[in-house]
Amino acid sequence: NRIVTTSLRTEDHDVENSLRPKVLGDYIGQNKAKEKLKIFIDAAKMRKESLDHVLLYGPPGLGKTTLSNIIANEMGVNLRITSGPAIERPGDLAAILTNLGENDVLFIDEIHRLNRTVEEILYPAMEDFALDIIIGKGPSARSIRLDLSKFTLIGATTRAGLLTSPLRDRFGVICKLELYDKEDLKNIVIRAASILGIKIDEKAAVEIARRSRGTPRIANRLLKRVRDFAQVKGNGMITCKIAKDALFLLEVDSLGLDNVDRNILFTIVQKFNGGPVGLDTLAASTGEERNTIEDVYEPYLLQLGFIQRTPKGRIVTKLAYDHLGIPMKD
Ligand code: ADP
Repeated sequence: NRIVTTSLRTEDHDVENSLRPKVLGDYIGQNKAKEKLKIFIDAAKMRKESLDHVLLYGPPGLGKTTLSNIIANEMGVNLRITSGPAIERPGDLAAILTNLGENDVLFIDEIHRLNRTVEEILYPAMEDFALDIIIGKGPSARSIRLDLSKFTLIGATTRAGLLTSPLRDRFGVICKLELYDKEDLKNIVIRAASILGIKIDEKAAVEIARRSRGTPRIANRLLKRVRDFAQVKGNGMITCKIAKDALFLLEVDSLGLDNVDRNILFTIVQKFNGGPVGLDTLAASTGEERNTIEDVYEPYLLQLGFIQRTPKGRIVTKLAYDHLGIPMKD
């Protein structure tokens, strides 16, 4: 139930689509990924071909779905969105693939969660745009090959290392999405405010950006919550003071940390003397899952420089001690 979670919350649904930039030029930040994609999109358009398969990886809420929308839009083709866990059987994927039009984009979120039998259907589909179907059983069984339209697969995952290597090797373009810096997030907040008709001054946008953990989804969510506060406690305009008061009430601290992050940091400091502590031990002591710590909490704490990964485990740094107001033992 965290307000600063990177996953989609029900309250995000009403604005998530209206806030998605539609063209690459409106997509703020991620310059490296944007530059790379622009070249491949332009080249594919010039040759009137489908774009090569794209793998996007990085923490949730950074704009992977948004980018796949933009790619389909820039290529002038249709987009079909699905996710790894939603495709249960090979037949489900075969149905999706045979319904794609020429050069269409298929976006599979959480692609690392595809099961093996489904994944194996993808290999010939990605490589040869073909579907191998087995008909009959026993000795009379034979395989027939069905041609598919050329399409672009966009796979999204939190870490590229979660994919099997045969799948990873079939992507021609691999883009890593990074946590956004404060300037980009400020611009994302200002852009979202203008679309939603919210009045906000620049300092307040910086204040929200600073607490958004490098993640546009969180920035948009905090903006909406602060707007409520501005309406009830002020005259609707979001000022720096309103933003600070609202975020204090929401228990999001000056750097966007909440109780879960503080719990992780305090656990390492108090139970493990600041570390190093292994990920499994940390997971057991905090009651959080290993993968959740690694994919969800840790990227931001690493970006802040509050923890370090060492071969022996995680260490809490002086920066974190200073932020938490705990003296560091020698
Ligand atoms: P993901 O698929 O990586 O979980 P989404 O694409 O759903 O993330 O993005 C979450 C929200 O953040 C969307 O509502 C979108 O409006 C916003 N967003 C993401 N990236 C950007 C960006 N670069 N510029 C502006 N808004 C963005």
